[in-house]
Amino acid sequence: MAPDTHSTTLSIDEMATFCKRKGFVYPNSEIYGGMAGFFDYGPLGSEMKNNLKQNWWKVHVTSRDDVVGIDGSIITHPKVWVASGHVGSFADLMLTCTKCKEKIRADTHIEEKLKIAADGMKAPQINGIIKDNKLMCPKCGGAFEEVEDFNLMFTTNVGPKRNDESIAYLRPETAQLMFADFRLVQENARLKLPFGIAQMGRAFRNEISPRAFLFRCREFEQMEIEYFIHPDKVNDCPYVAEWMDYELTVYDASMQREGKEMKKMTVKDALASGTIKTQWHAFWLAHETEWFRSLGANKENFRIRQHVDTEKSHYALDTWDLEYKFPFGWKELQGMANRTDFDLQQHIKHSKADLSLFDEETKQKVIPYVVAEPSQGVDRAFLVFMFDAYEDDKERGNVVLHLHPTLAPIKVAVLPLTNKLNDEAKRIHDSLRKEFSCFFDKSGSIGRRYARMDEVGTPYCITVDFETENDRSVTMRDRDSTKQVRVRLERIQETIWKLLTGRIKFEQAGTPIQKAADN
Ligand code: ATP
Repeated sequence: MAPDTHSTTLSIDEMATFCKRKGFVYPNSEIYGGMAGFFDYGPLGSEMKNNLKQNWWKVHVTSRDDVVGIDGSIITHPKVWVASGHVGSFADLMLTCTKCKEKIRADTHIEEKLKIAADGMKAPQINGIIKDNKLMCPKCGGAFEEVEDFNLMFTTNVGPKRNDESIAYLRPETAQLMFADFRLVQENARLKLPFGIAQMGRAFRNEISPRAFLFRCREFEQMEIEYFIHPDKVNDCPYVAEWMDYELTVYDASMQREGKEMKKMTVKDALASGTIKTQWHAFWLAHETEWFRSLGANKENFRIRQHVDTEKSHYALDTWDLEYKFPFGWKELQGMANRTDFDLQQHIKHSKADLSLFDEETKQKVIPYVVAEPSQGVDRAFLVFMFDAYEDDKERGNVVLHLHPTLAPIKVAVLPLTNKLNDEAKRIHDSLRKEFSCFFDKSGSIGRRYARMDEVGTPYCITVDFETENDRSVTMRDRDSTKQVRVRLERIQETIWKLLTGRIKFEQAGTPIQKAADN
């Protein structure tokens, strides 16, 4: 791994402060003291989150022949969650302090204190570790009671009667409706195996200890795909060929068991060595890593990690997480389990519906397998792009947010050099804002205004100056290089479009000019 893969050493708390200061994300209902695990996206954050989601949908749904989307409701028949196993066992182990009654999540406490992986550990092992290592309550130093299960489902009541019969759940993931609606979607969209059903939207988990800003919230968003294949064709992925030379940083179960370092491998080598067992899993892992990279994230900060036996769900044949190197360690960004036909079988059992389908190619009636289910949290992705974009540029004396133009909340800012030029600048701004998210700023020195735009990731600034009237041109400044070019008024819109979509480099945008002092 490269020694320094971040251009910042910003902590997660500092990132939260930055996001609040600049209008990306606020603590929810702060005037009432906030509410742990809930956040509000501000003007810039909501723009950026929309951009992120739109790009995900475009890459994963509208530009693919084999994936369609749905938008299901948040509250759904409670039997869906019984069938999926969530009502029975969607729980984390919780520690309660005998003295102050503080409640914390057991596995993350062990991981933080002992720096060992504890995800998926069972109660007896956790109790043993707590005892052997004399782990105490972080708040008052008291001893812990034995761990207990805490179900993460938020409940509500539907209808006017508040009793056990009216209990329903806020969905803890978007995934299950892809199974519950499987038959209708497959028929309506006339899908043939292999195919995927995608959904994005809110999910709710009553996390015991929400922390690390957007990383672990109680209300968050997910972007998920359930990808269905013929059960006999786990190694028959028509898309994998073009990914064979793609390089992934791999940390498989044996490397973790034997205390070995993670290592870089091509998809081809990972498959040939049996490290990744199926072509489909390899394809989706590479595809998902590339989605982040294509939007400007640093590939060195990503790895794929295989679940060790203790953390694997009972139904999963194999599970890999896409992980990112956060300031607080390598953490899950996306889970990708080979779930076989577990979910469809569960829904068949509980609903008695026929969820099999006839596979034209093999002339067989099959219950499809979900060989990989890319399941991505929107808020964690948002954090990744913020961390990888953030640079405290000492030379400029301000933060520069190197956001990919696709994600940038403001694409272009229009700045009149003096108030006398406001009308001309406003005209330019009004015409550009029909096409791009655009900002007009007339206050402060030009250097200060450039700095403000750097800090919120605006890729291009347009300055209207005294020459504009004579040469019918403006100065365009590039956020990342601070280079400047002169662009004719009638070409601004087309030029910005070409820049934002990567069709031209900044140097090709206009006539280079000697950079005026940024103030
Ligand atoms: P973790 O082990 O971190 O609790 P998980 O394995 O329970 O995560 P999944 O059920 O696989 O997570 O959910 C899929 C994705 O949804 C995660 O990879 C993550 O990006 C996102 N996600 C899950 N829980 C949260 C949360 N509480 N806050 C924000 N995002 C979340």
